[in-house]
Amino acid sequence: MTGEKGKAVVSFEPGIPWEVREYPVPDPEPDAIVTKITMSSICGSDIHLYKGDIGSPIGERQNPKIPGHEFVGRVHKLGSNIQTDFIGQPLKEGDRVVWSYYVPCGRCPSCLYDVALPCPNRHKHANFNHDEYPHFKGAFAEYYYVSPGQWIYKVPDIVPDEAAVYVDCAASTVAYGLQKVKLGLGATVVIQGAGGLGLSAASIAKDIGAARVIVIDKLPDRLELVKSFGADNIIDHNEYPTPEARIERVKELTKGRGAELVMEVVASAPDVVPEGIEMLGLGGTYLTIGLVGPYSTNLRMAPFINKGIKLIGSANYGPSTIPQVLEFMARTLDKYPFDKIISHKFRLEDAEEAMKKAMEGKVVRAAIVPD
Ligand SMILES: [Zn+2]
Ligand SMILES: [Zn+2]
Repeated sequence: MTGEKGKAVVSFEPGIPWEVREYPVPDPEPDAIVTKITMSSICGSDIHLYKGDIGSPIGERQNPKIPGHEFVGRVHKLGSNIQTDFIGQPLKEGDRVVWSYYVPCGRCPSCLYDVALPCPNRHKHANFNHDEYPHFKGAFAEYYYVSPGQWIYKVPDIVPDEAAVYVDCAASTVAYGLQKVKLGLGATVVIQGAGGLGLSAASIAKDIGAARVIVIDKLPDRLELVKSFGADNIIDHNEYPTPEARIERVKELTKGRGAELVMEVVASAPDVVPEGIEMLGLGGTYLTIGLVGPYSTNLRMAPFINKGIKLIGSANYGPSTIPQVLEFMARTLDKYPFDKIISHKFRLEDAEEAMKKAMEGKVVRAAIVPD
């Protein structure tokens, strides 16, 4: 230990105000890395945790815990065994890096089947007491302790922090989902929701080969951005206020065929699911990613049977996803304004205010920048 200290925001039970605490910056074990966070951002699941929708039951969360799981930073201290990142690029102190928050064990039946499935041994660090060593295991802090086995990658110089920050998790989560459903060349994709996930999904779907991307939302700030992220058509709730009108519009745009893929990336509107199913054509796929809270909805089963529709869920991503997304961003930065998804920036001390703004839907994506 060098006597260095770093600030972190800690959360408790939902409803208890967050606090800023100071912890000693640990020395890394031989296979670990300590990073200095340059920016973090607020994801939909952070909002659900803040509200108490997901995570440990209320009454079991007394431990101080640093929230947040989207980040970018610089290597502060390298463990003595580490020479490269996870794709073999040399790594040294000062390099810009992103890393995965999600840490599957890699050696259980679930991981062997699909490493993005919820590994029963994952997130071992998520519920520990952050007052204890190694402290820095959340995004809203000055430092982060990248544990042995946690995937880490160098960020291409050309990709700014404002884009790299949400590679884990927003952009990688949708990239993995789109690969999982094997999006085909020339497909029509409907994206329900134009937040960080929806905007990332629009540009990635175009890059994979979608012929037409249709994005649905109602917030003016988001709809403003949608076109620059590759959307061919926008369906504004204010213009098409009923599910029937929106379904009809998709049918119109696809010459009556319906879409090959509809995906939801909304935080809390489960009624988009039955609506999206009706937008699909024969053999279409419905991909669900955003509704991680305690939501349910009524589904009519006939379309699944008669039209051969598939319903697929996806969370997390694999070890190759982050470098694929970084390469995609570096290659298409002049085409898509990835840095514009971060619409508001807050100081570390104002992280809870940022969370409240995000919860009220007043931002596209909020970032937290330590001093
Ligand atoms: Zn997330
Ligand atoms: Zn596992």
